[in-house]
Amino acid sequence: MKEILPDIYCIRTPMPGDGLDFVNSYLIRAQGECILVDTGWKSDEALQALTIQLTDAGVRFTDLRHIIITHAHPDHYGLVEFLSHRTSGELVIHERENAILQMRATDYGKMVEQMASWLQSHDMPGDPHRLFERSALSALGILPVEMPVRIVYGGEKIATGDYQFEVIWTPGHSPGHICLYEPKERVLIAGDHVLPDTTPNVSMFVGTMQNPLQDYLEALNYVARLEVELVLPAHGEVFGDLVGRVDEILQHHEVRLEAIRAALNGGLKTARQVAESIPWTEAALRWQDLNTLQKRMALTETIAHLELLIAQGKAKKSQQNGLFWYGLLAK
Ligand SMILES: [Zn+2]
Repeated sequence: MKEILPDIYCIRTPMPGDGLDFVNSYLIRAQGECILVDTGWKSDEALQALTIQLTDAGVRFTDLRHIIITHAHPDHYGLVEFLSHRTSGELVIHERENAILQMRATDYGKMVEQMASWLQSHDMPGDPHRLFERSALSALGILPVEMPVRIVYGGEKIATGDYQFEVIWTPGHSPGHICLYEPKERVLIAGDHVLPDTTPNVSMFVGTMQNPLQDYLEALNYVARLEVELVLPAHGEVFGDLVGRVDEILQHHEVRLEAIRAALNGGLKTARQVAESIPWTEAALRWQDLNTLQKRMALTETIAHLELLIAQGKAKKSQQNGLFWYGLLAK
């Protein structure tokens, strides 16, 4: 646990998998009305780490007034259920994120059907149903919670102690992703919206967003215009140069967009054929080197870029033989 600013602590908890090693939650400490931003993965190790660090900060679970979730991915939302039994505080979550949670909790089978047939129509090889075997909320150990929920949309103020945070809706990585901005201290709690070492995955999903990459790029530009001296990301180290990092991420998508546009030069292609012909990850892995989950993410990210090209008037989409085909629009 590290005190970043007076009464603002970074709580670091481990997460499984071979990508990101840990999650940063942020504790804003104030007499009896603390805020916890993100909770960490649902595991004994993460829970133990969270408990120890809260205790070190002199905070009991019952002191947590607001548990704010930047977005409902399992590394951020995982311990909400545990905490819901130990605090009388409220869960703060964006409306879009809450809607997805509800849909996953009540209609998961239908959602998987839709996602699977959508992936098939984009030429995903194999049986796409298998991709979702481990992503049900129940498989992740995440259950709908019984605690007061405050739905936010962006623009709300949440004050505690000396700090007053503004909720900023930053869709892209997830439809209801939010950041928290403290204008007086010029601090941005960024969730996964802006990370120092990786570019967050921005993907297309059925029924959530029409053009997530455009939403994401707009939300990146929006936070870059805020006066920020310190960025508190959900993964990696705290950093200062928000504008510089935003520029790098914009550049990354510009390069990928151009690679995808170039891949369409040879005529109509499915999203999978496009994904096969461009490099992935910093190590420039090729499609065939990716595992199945990475392939799904690469495919949905490719679709997000293709949809942006369509919105920009540079590409077109048609449907034939049950598949979607993308091509360049002649200028
Ligand atoms: Zn995350």
